[in-house]
Amino acid sequence: MFYRVVTSSRSPGIANGLTYESSDAKPLQGMPVRVSLRKKIVEGIVVEVLEKKEETAYAMKGIDEVLGESPVLTQAQIRTALWMSEYYCATLRQSVGLWFPPPPWSRVFPKARIGYKLSEGATDTVLRGEKQNSVRDHLLGKDWVSKEDLTKEFGNVTAVLSALSKRGIVTAQSRSDEQIHPKDLRSTILAKPALTEDQILAYESIRSVDKPSLLFGITGSGKTEVYAQLIADTIAEGKQALLLVPEILLTEYSIQRFEALLRRDAISVLHSRLSIKERCTEWKKIAQGDAALVIGSRSALFAPLKNLGLIVIDEEHEWTYKNEQSPRYHVRETAEALARFSHARLVLGTATPSLEAWARAKSGTYHLVRLRKRYLDQHLPIVRIIDLADTTFGKYYPFTPELLSALDERLARKEQSVLFLNRRGMATALLCLACRRRVICPESQLPFTVHTAGNGNPYLLDHTTGIRADVPSRCPHCKATDLLAVGAGTQKLESVLAARFPSAVILRADSDTLKDAEEMREILRKMRERKADILFGTQSVVKGLDLPGVTLAAVLLADNGLSLPHFRAGERVFDLLTQLVGRSGRSQSGKVIIQTFRPDAPEIIAAARHETEKYLDDELKLRIHGGYPPATKIVRLLVRGVNPALQAKRLLEEARAAAKGFPDVASIHSSPTFSNAGKEWQILLRGSEPRLLLSKLDLRDVTIDVDPIETL
Ligand code: ADP
Repeated sequence: MFYRVVTSSRSPGIANGLTYESSDAKPLQGMPVRVSLRKKIVEGIVVEVLEKKEETAYAMKGIDEVLGESPVLTQAQIRTALWMSEYYCATLRQSVGLWFPPPPWSRVFPKARIGYKLSEGATDTVLRGEKQNSVRDHLLGKDWVSKEDLTKEFGNVTAVLSALSKRGIVTAQSRSDEQIHPKDLRSTILAKPALTEDQILAYESIRSVDKPSLLFGITGSGKTEVYAQLIADTIAEGKQALLLVPEILLTEYSIQRFEALLRRDAISVLHSRLSIKERCTEWKKIAQGDAALVIGSRSALFAPLKNLGLIVIDEEHEWTYKNEQSPRYHVRETAEALARFSHARLVLGTATPSLEAWARAKSGTYHLVRLRKRYLDQHLPIVRIIDLADTTFGKYYPFTPELLSALDERLARKEQSVLFLNRRGMATALLCLACRRRVICPESQLPFTVHTAGNGNPYLLDHTTGIRADVPSRCPHCKATDLLAVGAGTQKLESVLAARFPSAVILRADSDTLKDAEEMREILRKMRERKADILFGTQSVVKGLDLPGVTLAAVLLADNGLSLPHFRAGERVFDLLTQLVGRSGRSQSGKVIIQTFRPDAPEIIAAARHETEKYLDDELKLRIHGGYPPATKIVRLLVRGVNPALQAKRLLEEARAAAKGFPDVASIHSSPTFSNAGKEWQILLRGSEPRLLLSKLDLRDVTIDVDPIETL
């Protein structure tokens, strides 16, 4: 037999595996092995078992050693890795490597334990030595006893066991930990959730189909309760469940909720901020079958679950589900593949479906399940849009007088408030109050940021291209002179808040200030116990929180993303605002304030009116009309290195020529654009199947990004 082995070694030229031969050891697919590679012995995983030898010019080497007794990756996991390599144009080492901590992988390979059982007819043989008799008696009626346990019982038994083996009285057999201690995960369930009628309908609807479900439930409708019921079912069936959340810090929040459902020791947490040691510990726990539920961010999709029954992707629309390093996978598509190969259920939950998921739900690829009401029929909050261009600011810019008095009211009533800062937008931009456009960099078409030079004079800088410009006296677009520098940093806002509300307890949560999960837990605890009045933070941290005491949620500058020349810009702003609306008034009536310079933008109006479906339908029409995803597909080619501009130009010409052969499936979108001060160039291939072009192009030193999220 022949075996394709992917090694963890980074030697060049073998990233897609090598074929080895073996006639005696017969490893199964997914088993760890040791093989020779250029005079060294290296570790690897068998990804394919082949009947026939591949055509090779060189003599095939044998497998040196099979490590362990059972596969460390299941067939479904290997198939997913193979699928990822093909779909995302990644090497097999990259996609197989995702399932392990950093090399050496062998640090998590289960160690097989040697043990003994009695051979048939062993009781009839007369034994002389006392120790031999004792060992035999001990094994009587037992399925298997490890050598370790026998040593504990009788001291050194090596000689005795070897004598007994020779006479055919005992048989040696190695077993993995998993085989020695089979786990019954059913007993880890502590309680069952009590669903409302609507939630039961949604739950039953999800159970009734065997395709992926999109659980489209408004904020506060109790999607988590539906997940909890599905997770409990999965565990009751003896299988394991995986819950993916978009942010590492949100894992903390989910653990708290699921601790009521499951024994804590049956929950495993995986994310990229764990140390290698912590990752290895969790990995082994999961691989041994001790975890009934794995909660984690993007990378937790690659948890070594042997018996996967359910994958839930919470906040399915979040951008963090796309990996921005090779393999540049998206969790949604990869989870679809893994669920398909594992025969596991896939549930995607959100209040604002991504256009990708919405299109699939409309076409019937996903089963659409709705939760239209909040838990206990709590009303959605009243939303106020404040036009910043009409506002006279006092010394508390960018807080409008209306927002300040709304905060005063909450403080007087001892209610809580959440303030969102749009981090990207907090860099100060130059805005024209007459035409409401930002002053943009002519090269990148992105808004300039206002900086102050050492001599105190302001200047404009584009962070992507590094281009500097003087501050104009008139708007380059409409020539008006009403130019205003808008935006402020998080620290500045913190000091404004502290000055205006000296007696309030104010908490700040953003990825920079939060060093670990413990701090986030502390912030959540203070908010839940009403020991704080105002929580302010960046969107990625404050999103998704369920804080019953919050009756005011506000965004200081909603429209930052809207001026970006990106087809997803509107979707991002809409998601953010709908999330914002979702934070307020969860257990008592609430209010939301949206401060914006673009009060007429469709994203802002739809979010304020809670018209998610209308927004999605309209946006989908625009995407179809404009030929953007999900109506088409995009492949982004990234060129870096020596003289990227020249290489990008060459690649563009090649792509244009190749596209002529595929007129229906691919078009070359625009001229190459660059970022990072010209060090990185990109070309977008767009069409129904632009991947078909790839085999026609010289892609040495080019990074391929299939279904990119960022296209600038
Ligand atoms: P979503 O994720 O849909 O925004 P959550 O799952 O956070 O909503 O639920 C909102 C709030 O309602 C939470 O505090 C949750 O505990 C509560 N809730 C929802 N459904 C139930 C239920 N069936 N029983 C008890 N509490 C519920």
